[in-house]
Amino acid sequence: STLPDSVLVSPLSAVPAGMAGASFTHEEFYPSTSATALRTGVPVAEEDYARRAHALGVAGMVTYGLRSAVSVPMTSAGSFTGVLYAADAQPLRFGESEIAFLQQLANVLSSAMSQSASKQKVLFQARHDALTGLPNRGVLRTAIETSLAAALPAGGETGLLLLDLDGFKDVNDSLGHAAGDLVLEQVAMRLSAAAGKGSLVARLGGDEFAVCFGARTSAAQLEAAADRLTGALLTPFDVAGLGVPLSASIGLVVAPDHGSDASTLLRHADVAMYRAKAQRTGWAMYDEQVDHARAVRLTSISELRQAIRDGDLELHYQPIVTLSDGRCAEVEALVRWRHATRGLIYPGDFVPLAEQTGLIGELTAWVIERAVSDLEGWRGHGRPLRCAVNLSVDALTHRSIARDLVDRVIEHRDIITVEITESALADARATRTLRELAAAGVSCAIDDFGTGYSSLAALKSLPVSTLKIDREFVRDLVSSSQDLAIIRSVVQLAAALSLAVIAEGVETLATGERLAEMGIELAQGFYYARPMPAADVGAWLAAHDSSRPADRR
Ligand code: C2E
Ligand code: CA
Ligand code: CA
Repeated sequence: STLPDSVLVSPLSAVPAGMAGASFTHEEFYPSTSATALRTGVPVAEEDYARRAHALGVAGMVTYGLRSAVSVPMTSAGSFTGVLYAADAQPLRFGESEIAFLQQLANVLSSAMSQSASKQKVLFQARHDALTGLPNRGVLRTAIETSLAAALPAGGETGLLLLDLDGFKDVNDSLGHAAGDLVLEQVAMRLSAAAGKGSLVARLGGDEFAVCFGARTSAAQLEAAADRLTGALLTPFDVAGLGVPLSASIGLVVAPDHGSDASTLLRHADVAMYRAKAQRTGWAMYDEQVDHARAVRLTSISELRQAIRDGDLELHYQPIVTLSDGRCAEVEALVRWRHATRGLIYPGDFVPLAEQTGLIGELTAWVIERAVSDLEGWRGHGRPLRCAVNLSVDALTHRSIARDLVDRVIEHRDIITVEITESALADARATRTLRELAAAGVSCAIDDFGTGYSSLAALKSLPVSTLKIDREFVRDLVSSSQDLAIIRSVVQLAAALSLAVIAEGVETLATGERLAEMGIELAQGFYYARPMPAADVGAWLAAHDSSRPADRR
């Protein structure tokens, strides 16, 4: 038999709560098959709406051209999960065999729906604290890393704080654990409300909480947040009508001043929090002198200067591929520091230091020169390869540094392209430098697009040629409809402004395929290739870019 004209699935969450198994007052006016099916737990068919046209609501069905219908309850593990409703333009359309077929369909849908719901529940539980529903330590770490990645390369600041309740043990001891739990739930709610937009409140366990702030959070903003949070706890907590007063001690850290990775920042925030507790000051900002951190940092500045001069830096390259044929369109140069005792150090751990100390000019000049000479070596592989170099905003704003770098980039504009972060678009000196580069024919990409605050006006008037979508939006693309929507709108924006799009951080085939479907041409990520030493690039090109020799002129 053919399928009915229309089928509607309503999960129980879309039906008013308590409907399953209950009777409904409106049923007297509107004998809805779905309501009856949910109440009785068996399929309910309507032979012909036209014969009941006097009943409220049913006349509408006829107007819509529907004559017969059936509602089949959906159950999973003995409880209702929804109802499947099918309707048809013909009267008497649903006999025993049709109903049996729809019941099977309902069973399949129901188990699929409950599977996906329980999967989401497991995912949620793995990432959240059961008592307060707040994100846990793992989520906090990811949030810190995201904020750092957005703030530090652009020369910005971000921060976090650790909060520990004072005297919470007394509440537990004197009023019992149930009372303690009630207090913790209220603390969680008040902190979430007071933390402010763009921040993440997590529970680390016991009476310890943490708040991670977004990129562009200054020390002053962090202190203001600490005041707000302390203020939010001033009102006594309600435990069965009893007002329980509690205070907290807070430790603050600002990145990159107090560390540029999650572990260091959390450790330093802990130190500051204990000082706040000991001195009863409410909150305390991490103080480098307390932890002798200043001394450690000073040695690494001179070490870094020495490393640049001695050639202890290394340049690794990551291919950017054309999605349609998998060929290498360009490579991106990513700097590393080969440290004598600490091993290979990644840019997140020393580029911010170079930016703060003005060493970024020397570092970037070294990167450009090294890339140019490496590219010479790969010319033998066919068409000349182009290489993207990351330019810090700091490098673009310091007049003397910018002058030197601009000259170097322009000299090699046929093989060197540049990547800058969105924050450069907001800086007048940086945009002036970019205009100069573009006027000379240098291709410029906006890096980590989507994590900063670029105004559309800036994009429209700026001579950039490419948007690199940040890997934050690409990572969960296959499962996140939100990320999908964001990428879609970036693609539309790019098309309207005639810009190319590169998706960063592609780690799976499925992600690459989805990006290609959306019309994105270029991608970069571990799935295609990890950043590799210069010595490996030739072999990679030979193995993955087999159509290249045909290109040779
Ligand atoms: P970026 O410009 O966004 O560079 C891409 C980063 O993403 C690289 O990290 C790369 O290893 C990583 N990556 C690439 N594909 C994937 C993937 O599929 N999954 C994941 N999870 N990550 C992927 P890296 O090398 O640690 O560089 C970090 C940042 O340091 C760069 O971010 C860039 O902002 C900065 N940087 C690197 N080299 C330089 C440089 O020469 N000068 C300046 N100013 N900054 C640099
Ligand atoms: Ca980049
Ligand atoms: Ca990037």
